[in-house]
Amino acid sequence: MATPRISFEFFPPQSLEASFRLWDTVQVLAPLNPNFVSVTYGAGGTTRDLTHEAVTTIQNNYGLKVAAHLTCINSTRDEILAIADKYAKAGVTDIVALRGDAPKGADGFKPVEGGFTSSIELVETLAETGKFNIRVGAYPEPHPESPDTAADVEWLKRKIDAGASSAITQFFFEAETFFRFRDACEKAGIDAPIIPGIMPITSWTGIKKFAAGCGTSIPAWLDDAFTKAIRDGRTDLLSTAVCTELCSDLIDGGVEDLHFYTLNRPALTRDICHALGVTPAVSLENVA
Ligand code: FAD
Repeated sequence: MATPRISFEFFPPQSLEASFRLWDTVQVLAPLNPNFVSVTYGAGGTTRDLTHEAVTTIQNNYGLKVAAHLTCINSTRDEILAIADKYAKAGVTDIVALRGDAPKGADGFKPVEGGFTSSIELVETLAETGKFNIRVGAYPEPHPESPDTAADVEWLKRKIDAGASSAITQFFFEAETFFRFRDACEKAGIDAPIIPGIMPITSWTGIKKFAAGCGTSIPAWLDDAFTKAIRDGRTDLLSTAVCTELCSDLIDGGVEDLHFYTLNRPALTRDICHALGVTPAVSLENVA
């Protein structure tokens, strides 16, 4: 099996304890030499400054390529362009450009006055600056606001045509789900890389809630397996086995890049990477 290129998603800390967890996560995973890492932008644009701080600190202290997430929520075009400009000045070259979700209870996404009306507009405008490598989100299972996969594929094509260079998918649990989506994208003329997003299962109850909110389906066999593993107190082993198997099936199907949603908990992601043959780069002088 070929060794994949990997990348990791982190979220910005909002408390002292969370800061320690993020730095521990980066410290554990940075030696695996990721192709890039990314830092999320809190729902509703709530972590604007914290995201910036985490992005620049990881970039400057660990020498990693960091992609900053940016959403259209609760900001005008000018405000978003000012954030992007600050990133460019700090040497950040990669942006994950998203529309974002409406705040809970709101009736779908509505742009603020003077704000971007869609992810496509955001991508187009960031691309016009000529300063960024732009990545976007993609949905192997229909996005909750989409009628079907065909609509998601068509929308993704428009985001790529607007200037995005690659897409990272929402998480899913069966390799076939990704392959079907990849085939549909290829048929639609999308030739940009589509990187599978992998969710190591740190808490089955938490992941099930998350999946229900974002349209990821839960296979019955997986739910059964976790119900038994929770009863027997061996969820860590099951999580490692299930996610490694998913990644390995994806690699066998020609996937070269994997993006891990770490949730700032490094152990499971590290173990899965090790099982896939991604190990810390050790120089010979350190061994001798
Ligand atoms: P889009 O691609 O713009 O829309 C999603 C789907 O909705 C489209 O495929 C299309 O089918 C339909 N759609 C949307 N607008 C239209 C339209 N005008 N006309 C027709 N169809 C339309 N959220 C955060 O708040 N912060 C983050 O940091 C963050 N990071 C993410 C990273 C990744 C890799 C992914 C996959 C998601 C992330 N999200 C994040 C969640 C994301 O904001 C939500 O899924 C949001 O609902 C969609 O954002 P998008 O840019 O992917 O949407």
